[in-house]
Amino acid sequence: MLDFNACVLLIYTGGTVGMIEDATGALRTFDFNHLKKYVPEINRLNFNIESIQFEVPIDSSDMNPEKWLHLVKIIEENYNKYDGFVILHGTDTMAYSASALSFMLENLNKPVILTGSQLPIGKIRTDGKENLITALEIAVDKNENGEAVVPEVCIFFQNLLMRGNRTIKVNADNFRAFNSFNYPILAEAGTYIRYWNDLVLHRPRNLKPKFHYLLDTNVTVIRIFPGISAETLRAIIHIPHLKGIVLETYGAGNAPTGKWFLDVIKEGIDKGIVIVNVTQCASGSVEMNRYQAGQALKDIGVLSGNDVTTEAAVAKLMFLFGHGLSRDEVKCNMQLSLAGEITV
Ligand code: ASP
Repeated sequence: MLDFNACVLLIYTGGTVGMIEDATGALRTFDFNHLKKYVPEINRLNFNIESIQFEVPIDSSDMNPEKWLHLVKIIEENYNKYDGFVILHGTDTMAYSASALSFMLENLNKPVILTGSQLPIGKIRTDGKENLITALEIAVDKNENGEAVVPEVCIFFQNLLMRGNRTIKVNADNFRAFNSFNYPILAEAGTYIRYWNDLVLHRPRNLKPKFHYLLDTNVTVIRIFPGISAETLRAIIHIPHLKGIVLETYGAGNAPTGKWFLDVIKEGIDKGIVIVNVTQCASGSVEMNRYQAGQALKDIGVLSGNDVTTEAAVAKLMFLFGHGLSRDEVKCNMQLSLAGEITV
């Protein structure tokens, strides 16, 4: 159901999507106040769109926790004025930002849809217009009770609406750049937008949204590989103030079974670091009981990340430690679903 008085706030952070070709054929970012000039299709949407942009639009490789706070601030300051939010974002770190925002925007009752494109909006074959227009429509879509259909942080890309914290970038140039392997898609845009309402995160509607600004960046990722050395591992584990590690292991959560490996990981656990086991595979989950190589990690205190993505695990550790939770509280929360990021 479309609400013709609805209004979306479009937040442009940067990335390929907001670029047009100038007279010389060079790509440059365009002023979003002139969005309607470059994307005239927007004039035909039956709701209002206002836009705001980062003072200096960034390649999303430069996205960082400070800028996530800025995004949360923009959304908090404008929360009551708009029906939904669309964030135009570079694709490279979009899954990280979507994950972080899913924790930082608690009890959302309005959609926050991230989208972008592989080709700039100013290119004839751009995927950007389609992504943008449908994301805007989703941001204002309401059910028969006048409530937002998708009150959560999502990524919309190439016709698919995915839960943001379940999504990973899977392709550097194909238009289908994102996938959500461990959670079904929330909607698909064809001749009409088909929603799978049962899969959408439904929180009690009377909860007040909470905007969180505390993140602790003392976390890191270790991707193991055949040949990784004890020196490398030890150097990381002894980084001062390190609180959390996302350990990307093989398959169902397996890692070398050698004493040298387990000893170094145990050193980290004994130092109080929370180590979360996630799989390097794009799809599937960690099951540390399945093989001896996983069981050994469990026995020394490594936590199963189950089917969480690396992107969501990193953001969640930053969020939990940022809120001053103790090691045990962080461990406990890592096993819970805070924003639909993990299957429990
Ligand atoms: N490097 C760009 C970015 O992530 C790629 C893109 O926008 O798709 O900002």
